[in-house]
Amino acid sequence: MRSLGRTSATWKRYSTGRSFRQRATRLAAFAALILAAATGIAAAVVLLELRMPARLGSALSGAELDDAAVADLCVYIQKCSHLGAPDLPAQRVQSLVARKASRALDAEAPAASPSRAGLAREAHQMVLSENGGEWKSDFHRSRLGRIARVLAMAAGDKPESYRLTLLDTTQTNAVSTADGRIYVTRGLVTTSTDDEIAAVLAHEMHHIRSGHWYSWWLPDAQSAGDENDNGDGDGEGAEPDPVYEAACALADLGVDALSGAATTSYAQEFEADARGVLLASMCGYEGRQMYSVLTRLPSMPVTSHPSVAHRIAGVAKALDAMEDPEWISSHSPVKVAVRSVEAAMRIGAAGRPGVSGEAPGLPDVARACRETLDRLNATEAEMIGFRWLGAGTALSGRGRVMGRAVMITSGLSIVDVAVDTGFVRATAGRPGVVCGRIWLIRRLCVWETVAAQVLPGTRFVAPEWQKFKDELGEAAAAGPKDADGGVLRAAQMWRDTAVSDFAGHLDVYARGKLESSVAANSSSQYGNGHGQTLEAIGWARFLGSRRAELRAWSVRCEAHSPTLATVAFSSGLTVDGMPLSSNSTRLTLVLEEGQWKVAQVNLD
Ligand SMILES: [Zn+2]
Repeated sequence: MRSLGRTSATWKRYSTGRSFRQRATRLAAFAALILAAATGIAAAVVLLELRMPARLGSALSGAELDDAAVADLCVYIQKCSHLGAPDLPAQRVQSLVARKASRALDAEAPAASPSRAGLAREAHQMVLSENGGEWKSDFHRSRLGRIARVLAMAAGDKPESYRLTLLDTTQTNAVSTADGRIYVTRGLVTTSTDDEIAAVLAHEMHHIRSGHWYSWWLPDAQSAGDENDNGDGDGEGAEPDPVYEAACALADLGVDALSGAATTSYAQEFEADARGVLLASMCGYEGRQMYSVLTRLPSMPVTSHPSVAHRIAGVAKALDAMEDPEWISSHSPVKVAVRSVEAAMRIGAAGRPGVSGEAPGLPDVARACRETLDRLNATEAEMIGFRWLGAGTALSGRGRVMGRAVMITSGLSIVDVAVDTGFVRATAGRPGVVCGRIWLIRRLCVWETVAAQVLPGTRFVAPEWQKFKDELGEAAAAGPKDADGGVLRAAQMWRDTAVSDFAGHLDVYARGKLESSVAANSSSQYGNGHGQTLEAIGWARFLGSRRAELRAWSVRCEAHSPTLATVAFSSGLTVDGMPLSSNSTRLTLVLEEGQWKVAQVNLD
């Protein structure tokens, strides 16, 4: 009773007087001040913690990181991961090294030869006019840019020194000009994997870097071309060129096409092929996919280009030499990183080349890879059950961990490790689910993993997969007045219902499959119409019970006559949020009773 009385008296005084409100306001202001101060202090502490250790910053300029710098790096990566900024160390290190490199370049002030610039401008107009002009595709532009950036950094070049142009032709080809322009045809990008494109870009980059192009146009200026060849890696104070070093190592292994002094166009092609697959492999791309590109090139003049068979033999020789464990441990950070993750996924990985002990965080990355792989294997098994894969040729569970490297300096590299989600039919890119990032340093000419971090959330190797636009839908929506509008709308409707209501389109799909297999006179077990129809039914059943999404980019609509048109597009399929496969789809449409209808479907 007594206590109640006192409470009510207190309440009365506060609730009636102005002093209560004043005091409460003052109290709130004080609390806010304390909170702001605490937040400020916390932010300052976080910022301080996120700052790169000064000693590490200065150590990065050296060729090799010493033990103290490696320890700093590990602590820094761990701290940033804890504070929710796992990307920060890679960003900071890259921007620091880039700043230093650009300062050094500005000091050099390279003078471009006017005759070269003039020739290049002339060549630019010629290449465009002879190949259908420029082709615009945001998706493929960003895709090429991403691959070229990785290759340029690994070769020690500034990414801006290469300019990419897409050509509007169905031919499978790529060319380059002296001013650093690389032209890639629509026919090549829409039918090639990232690995194939990487080998092609790296080939052209070598022509540019070595001045090959210049020597073709001006045979008299051969000496000027030689001067520019960066094969001279042992110059006073020059940054060691990792590609050149790797080439020397390969030359020691018996591959002589890599001397860097090729003067005939035959030798230059061999050299560019070998250096191309070498550079692409060092970044984690599958060098052997170069074979498939070589067989798809148009026939080249025999006076300038060796035969495809000879070129494949040359590439095979270079790739075989790269299987040497000693070469891998000293030149391929990606293989070292992937092997160390695979080793951590298994038990008993002692004595593997390039793996020296356990790096901090490696078991976590290995676990993330294993979980993703399990999920993918389960999806694949289910798809085979539904005969979605037709021939039942899912990729085997082993060897599906892959990596893409960014070489920051010749002694420091980061490799993003992912699980390959591409199926056999994958043609337009090979997406994967990123599980972690491995940090490698090169000490005594050997790459070793020093730290590993799990990257939170599910991110994809190809960032454009997440944000790729629906170009087919946009084109269909934008052009109702356009003559192609009806064709595009019909194609979009087919595409959309192919996933959500496949049964409705199964007849068309199966008919198209049968017709195309009859036309190809195919007699193989799985190439016949029956197997493909089964596959189509399986696909419908599987996708019908899933949250599946099929999207298209780089759409090409061609009207062949007033009643016949084709729509070709690259498409990507995601099932339950996981990108599984991508391919090229070609629809043949005919005008029947005033309506465009899909008559045939071809999946490449
Ligand atoms: Zn070439």
